[in-house]
Amino acid sequence: MDIVVLKPDTSDENIRHILKRLESKGLKATVSHGTERTIIGVIGDTSRITEEEEDAIRVMTGVENVVRILKPYKLACRDFKMEDTKIDVGGNIIGGRKIHIMAGPCAVESKTNLMMIAEKVKKAGATILRGGAYKPRTSPYTFQGLGEEGLRYLAEAREKTGLQIITEIMDPRDIDAIMEYTDIIQIGTRNMQNFRLLLEVGAVDKPVLLKRGLSASIKEWLMSAEYIMSRGNQRAILCERGIRTFETATRNTLDLSAVPVLKQLTHLPVAVDPSHGVGRWDLVIPMAKAAVAVGADALIIEVHTNPEDALSDGEQSLRPDMFVRLMQELQPVAQAVGREI
Ligand code: PEP
Ligand code: MN
Repeated sequence: MDIVVLKPDTSDENIRHILKRLESKGLKATVSHGTERTIIGVIGDTSRITEEEEDAIRVMTGVENVVRILKPYKLACRDFKMEDTKIDVGGNIIGGRKIHIMAGPCAVESKTNLMMIAEKVKKAGATILRGGAYKPRTSPYTFQGLGEEGLRYLAEAREKTGLQIITEIMDPRDIDAIMEYTDIIQIGTRNMQNFRLLLEVGAVDKPVLLKRGLSASIKEWLMSAEYIMSRGNQRAILCERGIRTFETATRNTLDLSAVPVLKQLTHLPVAVDPSHGVGRWDLVIPMAKAAVAVGADALIIEVHTNPEDALSDGEQSLRPDMFVRLMQELQPVAQAVGREI
């Protein structure tokens, strides 16, 4: 038994009574008030509950039904929560009608460069500024990011432009610095199954964008979201960013079918990163449009004023004028699927 569905107008006292009963079985329970129904989600090893105990809970006052969730990701599962989760990032609602565009450089390189890019993406209609301060580079000899200095520049760019900030965390030891500056915490593809890191961001009160692992199945990815949610943080956003396949024409294979698959399986918002998905600037616009067409709630796009001089991922970064074009071309696609940019 994983969900206790309550009858409408069940009193607080009856809810407390049910919670106590569940807790006496060593289970944790959370009450969630939906627009239609109030339900109690049960977390922990629910297989320990016998059928007799389940029947006893079923007949308690206020209980309409008890349901078992067969999926191993319970909190992330659509059966657990039917309505789409909407995540408020400084007034920007991710998972609503508006598709949010996160844009900026791969890495924060300098203050002037970041400010320039931030102003350009803001003017073109982005609502969130991306930029890595701690960079997960394949080679230890390439630019590793500016660290906390980079976080400070991001915060200054927010101050100046009103854009919200997203930046990656690589190490639980950086959590305090990250919490001080960012609005969304990004977990990169290489850390999708860094469970200690997932638990760390699960314990804070800040939205988390969880990128899909390089070769992770959708189920494994949802289990990682479950790690975050199991610690209490329900504000997870999933981000498809391409997976490893035999194909070499593109950096990765952007699995856009993951978007409608996730929409069936989970209530969490879904973002798409076409920049890392294809690794080539000339394919970013068509894949971004495709992502919107299949139901993405947000896009994350790399933009650089001088891609040829970028310290990382220049080959997949859009120049600001191309980013403007992208924003224009996304409009009719969004409209066609009942969304707005
Ligand atoms: C990034 O966003 O710059 C990044 C490193 O992404 P990923 O983790 O998807 O490779
Ligand atoms: Mn990058």
